Amino acid sequence: MTSHSVSAVDDKTMATIIAAALREAAGCQAAVLFGADHERRTFPFVCSQPDTFQCKKAEFAERGSLARWLRVNDEALVIDDGGGPVEDLSEAERGTLSALHAVAAIPLVCEGRLLGFVVLCDAQPTSTLSERQIDRLMLDARAAATEWHAVQQRAAQQRQAASIARVEQLSMAGQLAATVAHEVRNPLAAVRSLVQFVHDVHPAVGQQDALLAQVMQEIDRTNSLVDGLLQLARPHRLVPKTINLSDELRDAAQFIGPYAQRLGVRLSAGEDHVPLAVRIDPRELRQVLIDVLLNACQACASGGDVTMTVGRTAERGSWVDALIVDTGCGMAAEDAARAFDPFFTTKANGTGLGLALCRDIMRRYGGEITLMSVAGAGTSVVLRFPLSDGDGADSSR
Ligand code: ADP
Ligand code: MG
Repeated sequence: MTSHSVSAVDDKTMATIIAAALREAAGCQAAVLFGADHERRTFPFVCSQPDTFQCKKAEFAERGSLARWLRVNDEALVIDDGGGPVEDLSEAERGTLSALHAVAAIPLVCEGRLLGFVVLCDAQPTSTLSERQIDRLMLDARAAATEWHAVQQRAAQQRQAASIARVEQLSMAGQLAATVAHEVRNPLAAVRSLVQFVHDVHPAVGQQDALLAQVMQEIDRTNSLVDGLLQLARPHRLVPKTINLSDELRDAAQFIGPYAQRLGVRLSAGEDHVPLAVRIDPRELRQVLIDVLLNACQACASGGDVTMTVGRTAERGSWVDALIVDTGCGMAAEDAARAFDPFFTTKANGTGLGLALCRDIMRRYGGEITLMSVAGAGTSVVLRFPLSDGDGADSSR
């Protein structure tokens, strides 16, 4: 069996490749792959080659005789008429195998675990499988099982990474929620008293217009705050766009502004109107910026400055750097070395996932995140993005 690049193949595709390869090696009519479903404790149908072969409802019990035999022996179970291990299978299993016109079942075992098995089928077998053929099939099956296992593990890791990303998003949203609630209450109070005034006093039309304009302004402000929070918390499909980094930095600063203010932290964004185009999913960029800004503000909790600047660097190609500098508590060298480790946190309510995710996101877009910190003096974080070809921001943000 030829080796396939593990990184390019998903679980189902890999199963199809395995079924096709074993069918060809055995020279039989069809191959059906059954894969472990640990939750349901069965080996349901996964795929067949050719895929027109109809047996989608077939399945075997995880603790059934067939699975047990294959797991223990890690050998091909050859199905013939007289005697042999087939005799020990349950009636249901024998029924399913016979309906499939099975000639053999080939286990896919990796690290002692039965990942699944391939049932080779032939309604009119022209010849029985030779011993050499079976040895060859088992060799292929073991190599295939190792590759399949790697693919499944990678998929499981990706699922886990996705759920970790979700936890961090929710945690960031949670940290900001109190601020947002506070920020929403103020304009609501303003709106209420303005409306009450109009209701009670019936001012002249001109004054009324001015008051209503103020009401609308307060409502818009509240709306954009709530939007920002929802953007953080809502799962979404990733769609990279060419966007202007300076704009995004300004928006993030605006969003985090009330939070910084409550902590007594001065937050300033360098006025840079040069468009610096980067290509990234805007919400992922926002997640990175907000996490870095939250960290900076939290480090300055007893008053301090957080400054953001953007610029272009030309070393090793063209890059756009965003620099976020705080005059906060800084980090000891050994903490700075672990800052990007998942779950490393020094905060009572921290997740320790923020910077780990930032690094993951930045790398995915060909960028990087680095930090320099001096205990007691402050921290500088550099977000480095590859400069995008686009000459500015997409209009659709
Ligand atoms: P969390 O913020 O949930 O703790 P992060 O991954 O964002 O997780 O940060 C990990 C740790 O790195 C923080 O707990 C803190 O100790 C340290 N850290 C991150 N940014 C800064 C900063 N700007 N100043 C000081 N320490 C920081
Ligand atoms: Mg953080």
